[in-house]
Amino acid sequence: MDVKKLMEQMTLEEKAGLCSGEGLWHTKAVERLGIRSMMVSDGPHGLRKQEGKVDRIAEPGSTEAVCFPTGSCTACSFDPKLLQKLGETLGDECRAEGIAVLLGPAANSKRSPLCGRNFEYFSEDPYLTGRMAAAYIRGVQSRGVGTSLKHFAANNQEYRRMSTSANIGERALREIYLSGFETAVKEAEPWTVMCSYNRINGEFSSENKRLLTDILRKEWGFGGFVMSDWGAVNDRVKGVAAGLDLEMPGSGGVNDAEIVKAVKSGKLSEQKLNEAAEHILNIVNRYYQTKKDAPAYSKKAHHEIAREIARESMVLLKNEGNVLPLSKREKTAFIGRYAKTPRYQGGGSSHINSFRVTGALEAASGKEEIVYADGYAESGDQADDAQIAEAVAAAKAAKTAVVFAGLPESYESEGFDRRHMRLPECQNRLISEVCRAQPDTVVVLHNGSPVEMPWIDEVKGVLEAYLGGQAVGEAEADLLFGDCNPCGKLAETFPLKLSDNPSYLTFPGEGDETDYAEGIFTGYRYYDKKELPVLFPFGHGLSYTGFSYGNLKLSAPEILDTDTLKVSVTVKNTGKRFGKEIVQLYVKDEQTRRIRPVKELKGIAKVALEPGEEKEALFTLSKRSFAYYDEALMDWKVQSGTFDLLIGKSSRDIVLTARVTVHSTAPAKRHFTENSTVGDVMESETGKKILFEAFSGLGAGMDPGILLEGWLETPLRTLRDFGAGKLTNEWLFSLVDRLNASEQA
Ligand code: BGC
Repeated sequence: MDVKKLMEQMTLEEKAGLCSGEGLWHTKAVERLGIRSMMVSDGPHGLRKQEGKVDRIAEPGSTEAVCFPTGSCTACSFDPKLLQKLGETLGDECRAEGIAVLLGPAANSKRSPLCGRNFEYFSEDPYLTGRMAAAYIRGVQSRGVGTSLKHFAANNQEYRRMSTSANIGERALREIYLSGFETAVKEAEPWTVMCSYNRINGEFSSENKRLLTDILRKEWGFGGFVMSDWGAVNDRVKGVAAGLDLEMPGSGGVNDAEIVKAVKSGKLSEQKLNEAAEHILNIVNRYYQTKKDAPAYSKKAHHEIAREIARESMVLLKNEGNVLPLSKREKTAFIGRYAKTPRYQGGGSSHINSFRVTGALEAASGKEEIVYADGYAESGDQADDAQIAEAVAAAKAAKTAVVFAGLPESYESEGFDRRHMRLPECQNRLISEVCRAQPDTVVVLHNGSPVEMPWIDEVKGVLEAYLGGQAVGEAEADLLFGDCNPCGKLAETFPLKLSDNPSYLTFPGEGDETDYAEGIFTGYRYYDKKELPVLFPFGHGLSYTGFSYGNLKLSAPEILDTDTLKVSVTVKNTGKRFGKEIVQLYVKDEQTRRIRPVKELKGIAKVALEPGEEKEALFTLSKRSFAYYDEALMDWKVQSGTFDLLIGKSSRDIVLTARVTVHSTAPAKRHFTENSTVGDVMESETGKKILFEAFSGLGAGMDPGILLEGWLETPLRTLRDFGAGKLTNEWLFSLVDRLNASEQA
């Protein structure tokens, strides 16, 4: 298909028509020209293919498929290779089902633990989000199937998600909310991006030229097409002009006609419409060029992959006195309905029609000696005394009790936010009562987002299973009984209580305004800066073996910001079991005068080690590892100085530190006025020299450096005023001129 030629042959109406969907899940065909339609489907952790005539988004029923663990779970693997494998597996399913674009991954950065859709999102940290999203995209697209990176951008709540404005300062937007998308776009080139429902600083994403064209296309080099989230279009004509290529689903022709009218009246340039149509055609073309008839995939084999991904991701949060792994020779009590019918996925557009689901009870039965009790009712908050008594009896009769707890479906879903961070009261009571009867109690959690744990000091162990996909029970049994060793770490902080979270004061906003007043201080960036205790820190996760770290090496003690820095550290398995350790590298700006987080994650490495084995974890750092977003410069900037590289087992367990000096190569190009302070001038090497010269002689033999030290916060004009007549206006103006001239040199 020669896209350029086709474009010449298409009528205005055909081009406008191509820019909106055919029904819910297809792009339009133009039969006259041999342009074929292609199908898209959700996403992100499984395939939700709705076949036949579906005319409502809530139409129940989709083709049976495999439900993999959700984003909040898989991010805890900290393992791009695993995410790539997930992508490849999903890509194979798409090929077998004739899907051209899978609607995922979902790469929004988590702001509040209450967001109803957090289970689909990866992390509170944009570096981790970007790495995970890029790997997923690479995996899917390696199969000749596209992805749709969503929801671009700042869709961080469900409350009024289609109208609210995320009011975010430029620096937080760049450093926190766009950065994960940026990595995914630059590194993995998704075929499509899906714009979000919400507005950003007042402008709908679907008609936000700065977002969709200036940043996404021009700055980041995105080459695919942008589609709307389903129903995100406000003003379609404005959207085309801004860079929204495809409207989903179609508007039944209403908006196509608006586009035609706007082009005819000169309100919209035809060139803009051509660009949109061409972006879409390029992707349709790419899909059909490589499309081959794919065999049906083995659901059974993919179920096994779902199991592997789940157990590589679940996080062992607590394991006092090595209560886990469970002994296979002794009796264990499994308590709680989620052992039988686990909560393993979230509600809304990502909901998968799983062909099979396993609970831990089924997975362990026959192999181990288990007694079971329901513990609580499937839904509702009310504790049932009889159920609790039965659970307590089961716990007493066993060596260890495992309570399978979590959030019911009615607590979290796409479409609404949680109101609090608590488990149902009946479960909290159940856990406490079981603990009273059985000191060796472990809790397994099924939830899409953090929960408060009022019983944390009463239980010996906690395994965070998140929403672990349809093989959740097998993965849990693999880990609980020690057939596999837990190796996930938290991709988000678990605060002690909701009010500790930095967005607490402004989430979810008032009316259609949500002010992101915490700025760049989200997640651990905030808890660290405030030195707040947390329930479990970002990056925390335990193993059944132990690891020691040593020999931290840098490729150079000093670099330019255009260089890369190699960092290596040796990790050793000091225990008796095979295990994997996630090594984290954080960068701390030691000298900055900017407002910066205490430290930020800039490197991850997952190392697999046999007992006694030792390996190197390797990291490569570059400019962005040290930079902050400079709003005045409208660019990323490294402030020359020293940086600490912190190697951590978690964000709160730093085991090794090294220091590097980084020099900025960016021309400073400062602009000075009479109101610039002495401190501003002293930041520039040439400025400092000029100021020293201007001062030498004035201080009656005093070193100008020492003299000026006390005046750092003083504007230059005030020096004139304090100059006791010695410093004139001419002196001041010529000083400012000289300073500016030297910056331009
Ligand atoms: C969701 C998207 C989803 C789309 C299609 C929207 O409501 O926000 O994530 O891909 O529906 O189902």
